[in-house]
Amino acid sequence: MTDASHDPEAARWHYRPSDPVALNPLFSWPPRPMAVVKWYSGAWLQITALTLCLVLALAAYVLFLPPLDAMQSFAPGWMFRVWLLNMVPQILVAGGLHWWLYMRKGQGMYKKFDCRDLTRDNGTFTFRNQVWDNIWWTLGSAMTVATVYQWVIYWAMANGYAPTVTWASAPVWCVVWMLFIPMWSGLHFYWVHRLEHHPKLYKHVHAVHHRNVNVGPWSGISNHWYENLLYFTTYFIHLIVPSNPLHLLFHVYFQQISPVLSHSGFEKLKAGDTDAARAGDFFHQLHHRYFECNYGTSEIPFDKWFGTYHDGSAEATTRTRAYKKQMYT
Ligand SMILES: [Zn+2]
Ligand SMILES: [Zn+2]
Repeated sequence: MTDASHDPEAARWHYRPSDPVALNPLFSWPPRPMAVVKWYSGAWLQITALTLCLVLALAAYVLFLPPLDAMQSFAPGWMFRVWLLNMVPQILVAGGLHWWLYMRKGQGMYKKFDCRDLTRDNGTFTFRNQVWDNIWWTLGSAMTVATVYQWVIYWAMANGYAPTVTWASAPVWCVVWMLFIPMWSGLHFYWVHRLEHHPKLYKHVHAVHHRNVNVGPWSGISNHWYENLLYFTTYFIHLIVPSNPLHLLFHVYFQQISPVLSHSGFEKLKAGDTDAARAGDFFHQLHHRYFECNYGTSEIPFDKWFGTYHDGSAEATTRTRAYKKQMYT
């Protein structure tokens, strides 16, 4: 992509993918069916955020989630269990990745985007420490809001206020809806995120997430309370679209665990000498570096359609800076 000798930004990256950041070919014209097959098989048939979230959701559903009958009234037992189903995987995945990549430095700098280590002793962050700041906003703010929303949805499902389906009665619908959840999440995220970049909302709310220019696993959903109130409204689709509790669980993990991987700061996780899993998302890493670009995800190319797509090139950086200037003046 960019010729490093003509890109003054090159020195700020330790590693960058050599090709322009890819977007979902499903929306390409003319159609590229083979590229679409490759895109979706790459997402669903390898170790990725999607497959990890699916496994977590299945395990939670089969082993831990109380039956809907038990959730007809707000009672501490099942409510505490739903909170644990949020907290425990979050701590294990974010804590585990942080330990492996940043404390044990298990793969050194291999495919790490940013040259720098995470920030300590810096007054920008709560507790003057990036990691403790991110842990607080994740486990305190995000997990609380996410859990309360889930309580309401499970309770509505259990009482027939929200439409539910079973896997036995509507297996095709259940699978189709499952496959569409990431797309719904991407659509919702784009519009909420654009709203958060309104200068007023940005300054008082979204800036908490953007303290992290150099991101780590705990940065994924390190969000202000008000941002979380918006971000997790994505779950309310289950009050309208017929769903099974497993759909909500998958949606939950996709919403809270996949950002852990996408913000990990490393493009791939290495096992031995091979790339074992996809992790960091350079598309979103660019958003953290240059702010006013790549508001969405690569799943639906809103940024391309609305002119804010940064493909990693020097030209895109120049364009983004010009856009930012006119936005704030
Ligand atoms: Zn943002
Ligand atoms: Zn982010």
